[in-house]
Amino acid sequence: MTKPTPDYLLTEIDVETAKQIASIDAADDSAISKSKGKGKQSSNLPFSLFVKAVEQAPIAISITDKKANILYINDAFTSVTGYKAAEILGVNESKLSDKCTPRQVYYDLWHTISRKKIWHGQLVNRKKMGQRYLADLTIAPMLDEHGAISHFIGMHRDITQSHNSEQQLANQKQLIESVINASPVAMAVLDENKRVVLDNQMYKMLISELDKSEPALFFLDAIEADNGSIWDGPNRVRNFANHEIRVEGIGRRGTRWFSCSGNWFAEHDACADNFFVKQSRDYLLLSINDISQQRRQQENQQIQALRTILAEEEHIRSIRETLLGAMHQIRQPVNQINAAIQIMAQRNDSKNKPLQDLLGQVQQMGEETLETLQRCVPEIPESAVVPVNLNQLLHEVMLLYSTKFLANGVVVDWLPNPVLPSILGSANKLRMLFKQLIDNAVNALNRASSRERVIKISTSVEHDWVHVSIADTGPGIPVNQHSKVFEPFFTTPAMGGMQVGMGLVMVKEIVNQHNGMIGIDPDYRNGCCFNLSFPICPKNITAVNIHE
Ligand code: FAD
Repeated sequence: MTKPTPDYLLTEIDVETAKQIASIDAADDSAISKSKGKGKQSSNLPFSLFVKAVEQAPIAISITDKKANILYINDAFTSVTGYKAAEILGVNESKLSDKCTPRQVYYDLWHTISRKKIWHGQLVNRKKMGQRYLADLTIAPMLDEHGAISHFIGMHRDITQSHNSEQQLANQKQLIESVINASPVAMAVLDENKRVVLDNQMYKMLISELDKSEPALFFLDAIEADNGSIWDGPNRVRNFANHEIRVEGIGRRGTRWFSCSGNWFAEHDACADNFFVKQSRDYLLLSINDISQQRRQQENQQIQALRTILAEEEHIRSIRETLLGAMHQIRQPVNQINAAIQIMAQRNDSKNKPLQDLLGQVQQMGEETLETLQRCVPEIPESAVVPVNLNQLLHEVMLLYSTKFLANGVVVDWLPNPVLPSILGSANKLRMLFKQLIDNAVNALNRASSRERVIKISTSVEHDWVHVSIADTGPGIPVNQHSKVFEPFFTTPAMGGMQVGMGLVMVKEIVNQHNGMIGIDPDYRNGCCFNLSFPICPKNITAVNIHE
């Protein structure tokens, strides 16, 4: 049975077309009746429903003959293009063409549909009123009972707006990427599994410059050593800013300073599974700014200031040592006089009373002199206890000594741990400590006639301790005197008794104030090697107002 064709499909100009549609309907009808009882979904539905479905579908639908002459359009077609049925039926689909679509696209379109395949693509169309729009078009061939193409069905949507948004997004992404790439700051985005998922050119340069396959992990480890975990735990550090990391150069490479900042951000999961239940993933944006140039300038200025400070401190220390030495010298006879008075008093010898009185007066004067001298001993100024980097302090002391090393022909072998956690201490005192040990080492080298004149300074980290070792190739200290060197006024024969013997007392005192340990390596055979250890600064401490 042939179904009546809807009126709006029929135009006077295309009676042939009407016949074609009628034949499509007839063929479809027979198909429907043939499919009855075969379990097809459509079998129980009236044919008019399919017509209505096409008419009311919210996508522009057109049916054409084999040459793309339009035979049918639905309401959405009119909404999208502006053409009513009466204006477009019998007209070729090329009426919609803006002519700026490359011919290759049409060639591809026809090549595909002529081979009975479905074509899908985008074309630039023009509406009736002339506005351009981007059409997302699917064309499917319709076959007759012999399998030959009888018609084409075209379905298209106006995707101008969504294309604009997509394009804007792509442009924004490109802009952000080019800004990030052009940035002088190295950047890396890490996922929660510490994997770098995005980086920029500067970051890639750091990979080769620092010789680390993933510099981000190297810096994050150093930050965690100072601040605590960034990734897990209830007290994990969320964002951090301007955390400075000092990286010691190995070989010829100089020391470098980096300022690191980290910002966590959440990205909503785009998986279809999480469309209704929003899931997000956390990412860390790590920026690593190379501030070596500024720090080098600052360090040079600081060294000049340090020279003055250390000269003053040394002056104070030499006055202290001289006075303490004098007190030590006076203390001995005063103690002897005191002992003599005690003996005389025990003997109760009245004949020696005048002498006893005289000795009493001398002893009294001695004690008063000692008290006066004690009051004159200048105090070493107190200084704030803050987290300090021993690599930095040692480096500063070495810079201060550079001229002295050259003048004495001393070679310094500097083997720092690349990144050192901070210790809690007084920078001034620790500088004095290292200065004293290096001073001793240079003096020892000058006393020895060995050809090798090397001072090896190294730092390392083990568990919660920072270790420093200062070794020289001088005459060394006999093992039986290792503990005595820390006693006041002790000097080894190798030093020719030239020194006052208070330097190591001060060194020991400073080490004790820092809850550290100091000792002489008994197994070191090339000279003398002082080993020092200091507890690592508790995490999250930036400055403490503790004074000596
Ligand atoms: P045309 O001269 O029409 O064709 C350009 C090239 O297409 C030819 O050189 C040839 O390679 C190929 N070609 C054209 N007709 C045939 C054919 N019958 N058999 C084999 N190859 C052929 N175009 C649009 O611009 N916008 C649309 O929305 C659109 N919708 C379409 C919907 C359907 C169902 C069909 C079948 C086609 C549609 N077209 C559409 C294509 C349209 O018919 C034109 O081919 C196209 O617009 C180019 O028009 P033209 O006048 O510039 O070139």
